Amino acid sequence: MKIGILGLGLIGGSLGLDLRSLGHTVLGVSRQAKTCSIAQERGVVDHASIDLALLNQAELIFVCTPIAALASTVGHLLPYLHPDTILTDVGSVKLAIVEAIAPLWPNFVPGHPMAGTAETGIEAAQTQLFRGNPYVLTPTATTPAPAIAQVTALVKSLGATLYQCSPQAHDRAVAWISHLPVMVSASLIAACLQEPDSETLKLATQLASSGFRDTSRVGGGNPELGRMMAEYNQPELLRSLLRYRQSLDQIIAQIQAQEWSTLEQLLQQTQQARPEFLRTEE
Ligand code: NAP
Repeated sequence: MKIGILGLGLIGGSLGLDLRSLGHTVLGVSRQAKTCSIAQERGVVDHASIDLALLNQAELIFVCTPIAALASTVGHLLPYLHPDTILTDVGSVKLAIVEAIAPLWPNFVPGHPMAGTAETGIEAAQTQLFRGNPYVLTPTATTPAPAIAQVTALVKSLGATLYQCSPQAHDRAVAWISHLPVMVSASLIAACLQEPDSETLKLATQLASSGFRDTSRVGGGNPELGRMMAEYNQPELLRSLLRYRQSLDQIIAQIQAQEWSTLEQLLQQTQQARPEFLRTEE
């Protein structure tokens, strides 16, 4: 299959590497000529260009630009598309993207791979990024079934676990498990930086180990992506953040009141619940 990728960064580049290894011909378009040459050198794409016209041969195109650029990128792409070309995106929010792109191109299947790293750009692209991870499609009532079937087959061939839900349900759920953790992790790092004693702060940075590495990872990722999550999923993220603040207040109150057994009960509940969030399903 001839597959186009628009936006050769972490996600677009990683898709290119896997799709090529599956035998597809991958045509890549990105903003910078340098990115295109790196993509070709690294074997991410068969051909790359800064010219959108390259994508007029593609049967299916993954749009992998930053959230704020997704709709405008598709707008610029429209003159180069055949009527039966399938578009899919990888944006981390869905309702705003679906509302902006579906009216432009009916053959559009919104998607979101639940996989990433703290790095950005073509240099960060890696093989097997999606294997074993969830990949959610958020079609609407008007999304054509054959287009959903094509994207489904491709996503499954990447080794990802496919889910389907409405854009609204997606945005509410990912607020909890993706967007809220970014803000919680960022606020953890920001709180540590408020330590007024420089010697204590220095010692804390020296002693930080696996626990801090795990809890600070997503707060130390791409700032532009974190901002977009907040900007484009504001109501759902606020809903989660406010409930999170209640949980934090509850823990503070228990510690202040020295209710150690109540605190331990809460920690038992969270210990039991955590594996539910980390299940891998086929
Ligand atoms: P990224 O590494 O910064 O890649 C985006 C690439 O898009 C950039 O390398 C840039 O390439 C290109 N680009 C930027 N603006 C463009 C434009 N106007 N036209 C054409 N190309 C443009 O970001 P990413 O992490 O791959 O994220 C891309 C998308 O994936 C976002 O929509 C994000 O929500 C989604 N996503 C990210 C993650 C994650 O954890 N990172 C996970 C799931 C989904 P040049 O070098 O050519 O400028």
